[in-house]
Amino acid sequence: MKSDIKSLTLDQIEETFRVWGQPAYRAAQLVGWLYRQLACDWGLMTNLPRALRDRLANEYTLNCLELVTLKEAADGTRKFLWRLHDGNMIESVLIPANPALYGGGSDRTTLCVSTQVGCAYRCAFCASGLRGWKRDLATEEIVEQVLAVERWYRATCKTPASAGPVSRIAGDETGDPEAGLAGDALSAPKFQQGTRLVDNIVVMGMGEPLANYENLLKALHILNAPWATGIGARRITISTAGLAPQIRRLADEKFQVRLAISLHAATDEVRSKLMPVNRKYPLRDLMSACKYYVDRKGKMITFEYLLIEGVNDGPDQVKPLAMFARRLGAKINLIPYNPVEGLQWRRPSATAQRAFHRALKSLGVTATLRQEKGSDIDAACGQLRLRTEAQQGSPLTD
Ligand code: SAH
Repeated sequence: MKSDIKSLTLDQIEETFRVWGQPAYRAAQLVGWLYRQLACDWGLMTNLPRALRDRLANEYTLNCLELVTLKEAADGTRKFLWRLHDGNMIESVLIPANPALYGGGSDRTTLCVSTQVGCAYRCAFCASGLRGWKRDLATEEIVEQVLAVERWYRATCKTPASAGPVSRIAGDETGDPEAGLAGDALSAPKFQQGTRLVDNIVVMGMGEPLANYENLLKALHILNAPWATGIGARRITISTAGLAPQIRRLADEKFQVRLAISLHAATDEVRSKLMPVNRKYPLRDLMSACKYYVDRKGKMITFEYLLIEGVNDGPDQVKPLAMFARRLGAKINLIPYNPVEGLQWRRPSATAQRAFHRALKSLGVTATLRQEKGSDIDAACGQLRLRTEAQQGSPLTD
């Protein structure tokens, strides 16, 4: 099977070209086409000799994501549903001007990327695991999510003045993108001509990132590289359901990405009900891996904590949660649950959310209550794909 050209680093392309007897500058030209021009067609690369283009086309694929639907929420969050070359579908979510949730600066345009088709971890509250795991994403499929959004952006929002929302559902052939551009400029991502749109990445889409470790790390290295998209490592956050051994492995990498842990409960009893992975790596193991990470990296980590009514929003969770956070110097993001069709879980009342938040803060931990984004477009993990597939009647697992 051919590998894809976007799974290669510049070093690897240079080495290939050396073996092929090509001058070194050709590799720089090629990555310029891939990551600056965002080309999806070898034929466009007119400054490469035809024989070289033919050879590249023979030996590598150049797969790009195909936009199936684009939904835009009232708050400017946009959710992209992509079709992969084998027909599988994945999602990415674009969040304009994200506040400093994961320790990075504010006012960034964040893209939430997926790492697997489906998910094997079957967290009880999550749409992604409902239809099981299908496959890991390849390196280039993770990288492409960023490139495809930039491609969409160039095609729809050509100038800073017109960087408003596109039609509510782009990809809808009847929508006139120009008509939508006159819309509410307040929700438009900040944009200066010549710059890229995405400058912050959260690996929190569909799938468990650390279960696709090699492909993810390689993709993040490419997205971080100055010859590709140049997104700073400190502006990349990986979120995990808590794979303790891989957290230790990540701690030993030189790469300084940020880490978020989907904690969602602070006792094994409650956490094992919500997240089957807790039976394999209970809180003791998870916290010890987190401690190792924090000590090795000298970096603050974040605990994500969904608030689910009557399940994990009671006073019994507050003390142990505060204790874990204090011990690790971790920050807590409280996220009101986004209901998923077919699941029984509910979001606590605003009063209950605030009470939980206050109780945590009174124990001396840093906690934020997230103003969740995009709930009107099924922006929570896995929700859009689930709905689209249900409508199309296509089974995800055989
Ligand atoms: N597997 C990784 C990344 C994907 S989940 C992880 O577990 O971290 C990304 C985040 O979305 C997690 O914190 C997850 O708990 C949250 N999430 C999933 N379903 C949700 C829902 N219905 N409402 C709100 N957040 C949800």
